[in-house]
Amino acid sequence: MEHTELWQHVLSEVELNVSKASFNTWFQHTGIQSKQDGVVFISVPNSFAKEWLENKFNKFILKSLRSASSDIKDLRFVIAATPPSVIPQKLKKKKEDEEKEIVLDNQFEFAGVDAETNLNSKYTFEEFVVGSSNELAHAAAISVTKNLGTIYNPLFIYGGVGAGKTHLLQAIGNEVLKLYKGKKVKYVSSEKFTNELVNAIQNKNMERFKEDYRKNDVLIIDDVQFLAGKEKTQEEFFHTFNALYEKNKQIIISSDRPPKAIPTLEDRLQSRFEGGMIADIGYPDYETRLAILKNKVAKKQVVLDDAIIEFIANNFQKNLRELEGALNKVLVHMKIAKNVFSVEEAKKVLYPSIHTPKKNINVKQILQAVAQFYGVSEKQLLIKTRKQEIVKPRQIVMYLLREEFKFSYPSIGSKIGGRDHTTVMHACEKIEGQLKEDEALVEEFNLIKKIVYNL
Ligand code: ADP
Ligand code: MG
Repeated sequence: MEHTELWQHVLSEVELNVSKASFNTWFQHTGIQSKQDGVVFISVPNSFAKEWLENKFNKFILKSLRSASSDIKDLRFVIAATPPSVIPQKLKKKKEDEEKEIVLDNQFEFAGVDAETNLNSKYTFEEFVVGSSNELAHAAAISVTKNLGTIYNPLFIYGGVGAGKTHLLQAIGNEVLKLYKGKKVKYVSSEKFTNELVNAIQNKNMERFKEDYRKNDVLIIDDVQFLAGKEKTQEEFFHTFNALYEKNKQIIISSDRPPKAIPTLEDRLQSRFEGGMIADIGYPDYETRLAILKNKVAKKQVVLDDAIIEFIANNFQKNLRELEGALNKVLVHMKIAKNVFSVEEAKKVLYPSIHTPKKNINVKQILQAVAQFYGVSEKQLLIKTRKQEIVKPRQIVMYLLREEFKFSYPSIGSKIGGRDHTTVMHACEKIEGQLKEDEALVEEFNLIKKIVYNL
């Protein structure tokens, strides 16, 4: 197997097991440099990344490499002056030309992105499958491209992780460039906006920063929930927003929740966001998931048993990134096996992603994190007590184990003080219900997740 392909296999496994932020932080600009006598040399951009990957990901990467190629014995990280990008563009082009070659999907946001607009040309309306979960957001997005700055301004799209927000936002940007000559489009995540602002302040470049943002005809800000609590950034964003809005320039925003539910978002920004069109985007239903998968398979020109596609659509019901990851995983394994895959084989390949926790994290760490957060002891969470100050953290632990780490109800029960699985189910349902209503709890829960994921 080629180095690129082998590394792509590792990355597709890593991606399913770490948060997006750590993935982007630690795996950007990594690649396989060479392979000698069963030792794989992995190039990393700097000593910081080297140390981190050695300490945290050594085992995982080795296991993943071995699952693809059993002759691999060990790995070393090396700092490369000009590290190869995840998928060298040239190679990708050449591959695309080769008939019936599986072109592994380049899922990573940092590759193939235009430096000026930050748009990735792969995110288009053509590639976006419309179903009941996203038709409103999709329709709003289309009308915005036809009525820039006049019909829905701002357009605010919200939905969960992997529901398709970034794809839709980027599709708007790409479509505008296609429809109109000379329009200036800029896409930016709110984190990037914050970083650029901080840099501009440090380097006394504020004029340039302002100009950069205010000259656009279309400004797209992704994941605006990350502006929560960043007062200076909100302030600057408010002014940028107003400057553009007054000139009838189009603003498009996404978030994981509606404006009202973003904690510590200034009132004036909140009301600005609510002044336009708000559309939610849900997780797609089974038919849409199936259509998304079939589209991808058709594009890759591979033959895949319908039963496998159905199995994936059935088992990856929310985050579409995971759905795509599962498909890619099957395709990589199929290619290694050089064979048509049976549904049983596909199930075997996907078993770990479906049945094991998403991350190498143990229950004790979660108990610790939650106990610490609520100021109780870990032991208290395990004993039988109905004290409210204990019951809630305990239910949160159960919900976390279930939702984030995909533990089964019985196994959660046995790990959390030998409880019955129905108790666990009840706890999870309760927290799930409360999260829909209680904004403070959502905030707490997000903070706990951050602690657990070490972000
Ligand atoms: P979000 O930004 O909401 O977390 P993304 O836009 O990154 O989600 O979507 C995750 C992945 O799923 C992307 O690769 C995207 O192309 C794909 N995707 C999302 N929605 C659709 C859709 N309706 N049709 C086809 N692919 C989709
Ligand atoms: Mg996104």
